[in-house]
Amino acid sequence: MNVLVINCGSSSLKFQLINSDTEQVLAKGLCERIGIDGSLTYQPAGGEKVKSDKPMPTHTEAIQYVIDALTDAQTGVVKSLDEIGAVGHRVVHGGEKFASSVVITDEVLQAIEECNDLAPLHNPANLIGINACEKLMPGTPMVAVFDTAFHQTMPEKAYMYGLPYEYYEKYKVRRYGFHGTSHSFVSRRAAEIVGRPYEELRTIVCHLGNGASICAVKDGKSVDTSMGLTPLEGLVMGTRSGDIDPAIMEFIAKKEGLDIAGLMNMLNKKSGVLGLSNNLSSDFRDLDAGAKEGNKQAAVALQVFAYRVAKYVGAYAAAMNGVDVIAFTAGVGENSGPVRADVLGYLGYLGIEVEEEANNTRGEEITISTPDSKVKVMVIPTNEELAIARETVALV
Ligand code: ADP
Repeated sequence: MNVLVINCGSSSLKFQLINSDTEQVLAKGLCERIGIDGSLTYQPAGGEKVKSDKPMPTHTEAIQYVIDALTDAQTGVVKSLDEIGAVGHRVVHGGEKFASSVVITDEVLQAIEECNDLAPLHNPANLIGINACEKLMPGTPMVAVFDTAFHQTMPEKAYMYGLPYEYYEKYKVRRYGFHGTSHSFVSRRAAEIVGRPYEELRTIVCHLGNGASICAVKDGKSVDTSMGLTPLEGLVMGTRSGDIDPAIMEFIAKKEGLDIAGLMNMLNKKSGVLGLSNNLSSDFRDLDAGAKEGNKQAAVALQVFAYRVAKYVGAYAAAMNGVDVIAFTAGVGENSGPVRADVLGYLGYLGIEVEEEANNTRGEEITISTPDSKVKVMVIPTNEELAIARETVALV
């Protein structure tokens, strides 16, 4: 079956058409600047990537252009919409309502809408994408795959904040975690690679991209993860602060005259390695280059990032009473040997030994620990679109 995977943002829409039997990507692309002017980037497998300007007042026009491109006589990859068997939608926040992916019905749409408060930037955009697809592809089954669902197995002791209980009761303020599709995909793959049952393995997945989170997966279940109510908690990220002393908010607000919106903007967009490097860059390639040229703040940003990752790995090894596999994934985790080496430099006490040459490879699935290492360490490229396609097929 061909599955259209949609990842909808407020002004963008990423898509892939995946043949679920061969797991090949037939075509992929991106709509940008929806609601402003609009452009479509489209690439069929083995073909050229073409970007063209298209008027996209809403997501409905964007999806119409995607369908037109996929069914185009010259560059299309299917003859008609009948050859698309299902649509899988990435949905960011499923709250406590969704512990797994679901076939989208009217009740599901309403339940997703009820989670809007928890992800005001993301969920409304995801819903717009679903509604646009329903309009243009009526009758095609659709599935929602949630970033939060995999973490619904966390025990209370991991998801409760030390806050008045009434906020949990009234507003569901608790830790949810994100990147669940990636953590699930990578931890399953780790079990396959080591040839041990998923249900008996303790894995720590380090998803280190622009947004970054760590997950402790024990016996096939997420038991803790570093992001919380929102994707701001946990690691130092590209532009997000991660964990800080909450009292800093009041301190900076008074000094700089910032309101809540100003504070949140600072913590989400101006912090992380971007802020630490004194605005050099949020991109680890730039920070690497900067550090090599003697930029001290770039070097410190990289050190703070790796140190925070290592501290979380230590915490999760404690939470699971040990760890069998550590897996690195996403943009930084897959590509940056130096970041991995820095993190692993703190973890010798776990009996980890790193194969330096293997660690210097980029972007491929590889074991980077020595055969004698007590913990297996791997690089496993994540593939959230494929994971969404698999979930979709399993449900329809
Ligand atoms: P997201 O999906 O959160 O936007 P990605 O997982 O795509 O992020 O990761 C993007 C980040 O990966 C970039 O910001 C960049 O810092 C990092 N990255 C990509 N390639 C390399 C590389 N060769 N070396 C170091 N970092 C890299």
